[in-house]
Amino acid sequence: MKALSITGAKELVMEDLPVPVLTRGNAVVKMAMCGICGSDLTAYMGTNPTVRYPIHGLGHEGVGIITEIGKNDRGLKVGDRVALEPYIPDHTCHMCRIGRYNNCVDIHVCGVHKDGMMSEYFLHPVDLIHKLPDSLDFRRAALVEPLTIGLHGAARAHVSEGEYVVIFGVGTIGLMAAFACRSYKATPILIDIVEERLGYAANKLGMPYTYNSKNGEVSEYLRKVTCGKMPDVMIDCTGAPPILASMHDYVCYGGRIVLVGWSHNSVTINTVRCMQKELDIYTSRNSCGKFPEAIRILKEDRFPIEKLITKVVNLEDTDETMQDMVLNSGNYLKVIVEITK
Ligand SMILES: [Zn+2]
Repeated sequence: MKALSITGAKELVMEDLPVPVLTRGNAVVKMAMCGICGSDLTAYMGTNPTVRYPIHGLGHEGVGIITEIGKNDRGLKVGDRVALEPYIPDHTCHMCRIGRYNNCVDIHVCGVHKDGMMSEYFLHPVDLIHKLPDSLDFRRAALVEPLTIGLHGAARAHVSEGEYVVIFGVGTIGLMAAFACRSYKATPILIDIVEERLGYAANKLGMPYTYNSKNGEVSEYLRKVTCGKMPDVMIDCTGAPPILASMHDYVCYGGRIVLVGWSHNSVTINTVRCMQKELDIYTSRNSCGKFPEAIRILKEDRFPIEKLITKVVNLEDTDETMQDMVLNSGNYLKVIVEITK
């Protein structure tokens, strides 16, 4: 079978690998599609310190059809169309024991710490496989995993009905966080410096508030939108040091802040102002138990989440597209790789 593998920084190769053999507790899935994530790009560029090369098969946003499976208590069978939850926990550590398996001390994320999903067949644990409804096509289903990241971020900060949530970074994850907020009946306010992305969010995705931070003080804009109170929650999807250094200015007293975007280095925050406002600061890693919710939201189709897909490419053209995504990131939101028909 073909697999798009990464052997080192900027070394993407098409490999010919044996089809995986079914083992106990796992299923073999014929992969249909897999999204390209920002972390795949940093793995490709060699700027993702958590990646362990070589990775036979890049990617962790995969969907496909079960071709082999043993007896299981999940009701899954050969022919089922499924989404694969890509964070493989050890099931034994203290985090796993309390259900926070996304934060397992020995987690293996597909395409990062172990082989990933851009291969024609993929072996995956049955307990991390989620059946897709017939009405949800593979294209939209490839958005399930990134949507769970937005849902988990919003859930970490307990976003709830009627609240204002300021979101920094209008890439795929920021937009997924915004859709998560809308699903929780909260109002997202999107901040970025790329005018095209803000325009797309406002005009094509129906986001009610967007603001370019080059045009003036973000806190003044937020004060205006929230009639003086300031947002209840901030979700940072940038990891940008200047934003985090001022994060206390973007929420109300008693506000909550959740960090979803990774910084390259450690960042200084103003602990004095955070304490004066008694802010709750959360971090958010992977997602936990959110696959069924994301599948339901995409199936219900109340939000134009599908419009995040800016391109669908074949496995053979993925190398070229990833190079262009690095050079012209503003031209892309979510790119989906079609692995098999
Ligand atoms: Zn664990």
